[in-house]
Amino acid sequence: MMKDRLSKRASSIPPSGIRKLFDIVTEMEDVISLGVGEPDFDTPWSIREEGIYSLEKGKTFYTSNAGLVELREAVCNYYDRRFDMQYEYSTESLITVGGSEGLDLALRALINPGDEILIAEPCFVSYQPCAYIAGGTPISIPLKAENEFRITPEEIEEKITEKSKVLMISFPTNPTGAVMRKEHLEAIAEVCIKHDLTVISDEIYAELTYGDKHVSIASLPGMRERTVIINGFSKAYAMTGWRMGYVLGPEDILDVMTKIHQFAIMCAPTTSQYGALEAANNCDGDVEMMVRAYNQRRRLMVDGFRKIGLDCFEPEGAFYVFPSIEKTGLTSNEFAEQLLLDQQVAVVPGNAFGECGEGFIRCCYAYSVDELKIALERIGIFVAKLLSE
Ligand code: PMP
Repeated sequence: MMKDRLSKRASSIPPSGIRKLFDIVTEMEDVISLGVGEPDFDTPWSIREEGIYSLEKGKTFYTSNAGLVELREAVCNYYDRRFDMQYEYSTESLITVGGSEGLDLALRALINPGDEILIAEPCFVSYQPCAYIAGGTPISIPLKAENEFRITPEEIEEKITEKSKVLMISFPTNPTGAVMRKEHLEAIAEVCIKHDLTVISDEIYAELTYGDKHVSIASLPGMRERTVIINGFSKAYAMTGWRMGYVLGPEDILDVMTKIHQFAIMCAPTTSQYGALEAANNCDGDVEMMVRAYNQRRRLMVDGFRKIGLDCFEPEGAFYVFPSIEKTGLTSNEFAEQLLLDQQVAVVPGNAFGECGEGFIRCCYAYSVDELKIALERIGIFVAKLLSE
């Protein structure tokens, strides 16, 4: 008999709620998938060119652990230029393998066994498992459609205990597309200060806003010193496969994160760092063009779902819509599975992003307008059948 050889924490994590459905997708023909959350654009050419050029020049060695100095300077300049926030590149920045690594490092740097991590849900699928693996106790804060999926100070207060240590938020949000304006953030900043919470603010969708410009919670008084900003190049610059992210935050936290990164990863991929340097310095125009295209698709999707007869919260950021399917009487899983089998459209059940996502589905609209139109037509047929039953 073999010993119980696996880590109890790691092996008890449930598999991602999306996997089963997408195993079916790969075996089907003529499927339109609105499932995966990644841009349909190619990485802007000048970025790819910089990657290629760096290879031609033989830049194929490790960089310093925290990343190329030029790139760290560039991401700090970018936050200054775009959001009027100042960070010192040498002590307050770190280049990571996607925003994903940044999230994992931040949790591992902050958490002691038993610490409670308050997580605003529905949220990106990694938060709960990474918080748990880091030794923490994830505590869900379910956000509500009637609050436009924003987090309120009361909702945080309700979950505060002696053990509360970290609050994880991400606005604009995957999967809801919700944003928090300055006044909303001010209200929760007060609670964070009162209870001495450290905030992990995942700002990976900061460029993808369709109304007001993104505001970071770290820009508010008293918050810079207690906020770790996670960001990256995947979404805004259509660079998911390059695996480029970065972190900005207080020196003491960044110090520990950089140590873990150094031992676990060494440094982020060098070729990608040269591509990202071009992105941060010279690609504001490309981002603007993509945001305009997403905005057109966003309108198409929100109108489309409302015409179909489903309640659809109007997202102001990211590239997802999160319509309610409650009227159909199906659960999120039933809806997604039956829609796929009946009409060959793949969407993600809302509960994959936290229990409070039950009753919703997530549709990514980073697909061509033609595909989106067909998808809406098919979803329309499916829902009409359900509503007439
Ligand atoms: N945060 C959020 C909210 C996301 O949606 C994603 C990707 N889906 C990530 C982080 C991770 O992105 P990456 O590792 O590619 O930077």
